[in-house]
Amino acid sequence: MSENDLIPNPSPDELTKLRQRVAELENAEKRYLNLFENAGDAILIVDPVTFTIVDANANAARRFGYSKDELKRLQIADIEIPQDTHQSNSGFVWESFASGVILYECYYRRKDGSLMAVEVSRSYVVAGGQTLQQNVVRDITARKEMQAALHESEERLRSTFESLDDFVVVLDKTGLILDYHIAPHSGGFGLQVEIFKGRPYWELLPAEVSAMLDDHIQSLMDSGVVQEFDYSITEPPNQVMWFNVKISLRSDSEGGFAGVTIVFRDITERRDAEQQRLAYSLERERVKLLGDFITNVSHEFKTPLSVIMTKIYLMEKTMMNEKEIEKLRIIQEQVTYINHLISAMLMMSRLNTDSEFAFEPFELSGLVREVVVTAHQLAATRQQSIKLNLQQDSFIVLGKKEDVHHALYNLIENALLFSPNEATITVNILSKGNYVLLEIIDPGIGLSKEDVQFIFDPFYRVDKARTARKAGLGLSIAKKIIEIHKGAIEVTSTLGKGSTFAVYLPQINH
Ligand code: ADP
Repeated sequence: MSENDLIPNPSPDELTKLRQRVAELENAEKRYLNLFENAGDAILIVDPVTFTIVDANANAARRFGYSKDELKRLQIADIEIPQDTHQSNSGFVWESFASGVILYECYYRRKDGSLMAVEVSRSYVVAGGQTLQQNVVRDITARKEMQAALHESEERLRSTFESLDDFVVVLDKTGLILDYHIAPHSGGFGLQVEIFKGRPYWELLPAEVSAMLDDHIQSLMDSGVVQEFDYSITEPPNQVMWFNVKISLRSDSEGGFAGVTIVFRDITERRDAEQQRLAYSLERERVKLLGDFITNVSHEFKTPLSVIMTKIYLMEKTMMNEKEIEKLRIIQEQVTYINHLISAMLMMSRLNTDSEFAFEPFELSGLVREVVVTAHQLAATRQQSIKLNLQQDSFIVLGKKEDVHHALYNLIENALLFSPNEATITVNILSKGNYVLLEIIDPGIGLSKEDVQFIFDPFYRVDKARTARKAGLGLSIAKKIIEIHKGAIEVTSTLGKGSTFAVYLPQINH
């Protein structure tokens, strides 16, 4: 069919119009070609029957790394990765389908094999009487990365929010709950009703707490300064719970007021600990006052007692009568007992009130030798002997030498006193892990199971008649000294067969 068949014998007027029409069409095509070539996106024209790429713009060639001619030899399937074969593909977006444009996200494979996240806008165009598919392909790598980063940061925020041990409430401008987190196993934060989104905060909390919140939210809005306060509630039966509350402003993307965030923290344990610390320091103060009192009174006793002792000594020298001398001896014994008691009380009071002990490293076996030498005087009067076994020459411990001397002397003295004449007492010193173990073994009268339980209690004496001149404070003082040195003391005993006192002290440089 020729042009003449369509418009037979055109008039000059019609011919001019026709020429104008042709010129317009040519212009439109030029404009299209211009747009096609210079579009910021990649454009692929595809034959919808064979799916061959029939044309591509310069950006398509540049983006996918092919020359235009190479692209024209490919089928669309060679570069477009179908939705379901790529896991992270977000799938079809159908929104514009009705208008004849299909919009979807997928991946395009470049010539070098790398993938590019893209959004394809597919439509159909008619050119030269043929319907062709026009794929406008937009690189959305940056958008995808941003979405992933946003998602990740949201996740991070949510997991932080959810791992809090607090009760966090996010309120909107009107005081309704937008979001909340209540720590699991938190004991409910004393909430009165079950919490849920969309509810006003004042329905959740006791009226007085809600009123406090109102005041603080008002001050926060006036000043912009984060508000903080503590409050307590009493849970039945009589259990007091303490909370710390922090309220801060939330702003929207334009910096305007969006609501507030309230964080409730259960501080009951902290409060209890503070209370206990206070009670403990009051108790320490009380013990110290008592200790000072005992020390003062004891010193007051000492002077008259020493005067009495001197007088007894002088009277003894001038007296010839045996009966009177015997009476004096009884007085002397009692005064000695009171002196012993006062020294023990002074020692006990010092050990209980001294908060800082000046500890120094010292060698223990040397100290034990000194104790044994001192104890020999007593042993000699009873024809007893003391056998010392050292596993090694030197054991270094940290502590106060005189106090450890005092404790060990008491143990060895007891071993001698409660063993028969001519008995042998054994003292072993050995290493036990990080400790030095001192064993004081006697073949004496031993202790019953009952006595073993109370032996370290102050004033505990098994046979009061036999130990009339002693107060029963020696072992409790010894135990206190060893414990101050971070050690331990134990006893094993068989009635009638003897006892073993074991002392553990931490070794240094071991
Ligand atoms: P004290 O200071 O009066 O000597 P201790 O506290 O040292 O008192 O001892 C308390 C009591 O424990 C003694 O009166 C005695 O009955 C008993 N006891 C202590 N050591 C031994 C021992 N090695 N064998 C048997 N009994 C002992």
